[in-house]
Amino acid sequence: MASELDGLPVIATRREEAEGFLQGLVSKSLGWARKYSLFTYPFVTACCGMEYMTMASARYDSDRFGAAMPRFSPRQADLLMVVGTVNCKQAPILRRVYEQMADPKWVMAFGVCASSGGFYDNYATVQGIDRIIPVDVYVPGCPPRPEQVLDGIMLLQKKIQNQSHKLIDRKPLPVIAGGAGR
Ligand code: SF4
Repeated sequence: MASELDGLPVIATRREEAEGFLQGLVSKSLGWARKYSLFTYPFVTACCGMEYMTMASARYDSDRFGAAMPRFSPRQADLLMVVGTVNCKQAPILRRVYEQMADPKWVMAFGVCASSGGFYDNYATVQGIDRIIPVDVYVPGCPPRPEQVLDGIMLLQKKIQNQSHKLIDRKPLPVIAGGAGR
């Protein structure tokens, strides 16, 4: 029996193409949402802290970039700002703070001391925090100007926007013998 749809042209989409389109859409939306809702954890150890405060104050207003809400618990933050000199005794503490942050997370080395040790070329100072944790953006300067920090935030936002997110099929976890009921 002929149906009323028989005369209509057929628009076919391959499953992979549809998934690719959806994945792109999800990626873009997540990137957009994440880049404008950064919650910073300021790990402030030295004089660069003054610049951190200036950058957050009304004149430079990091709120315009969606990055104005400092959280003082690493569990509620996704942008770790390492502001100032990090000595070897502080290294394990910094590492622990980084590990306590939930994924996805990003790190900014704020100032030349955090980026490379700066002029503290000695046995007690970590010669760049990238020896302890991965760094996404480096802001040079001693101290950096607030405009430089804002520029660093914009670079990071570009990176977050361009990150891709994959749709995955979650497979059921294997059943462990004797583990039923746990
Ligand atoms: S980069 Fe300069 S201003 Fe910043 S912590 Fe080091 S010495 Fe201080």
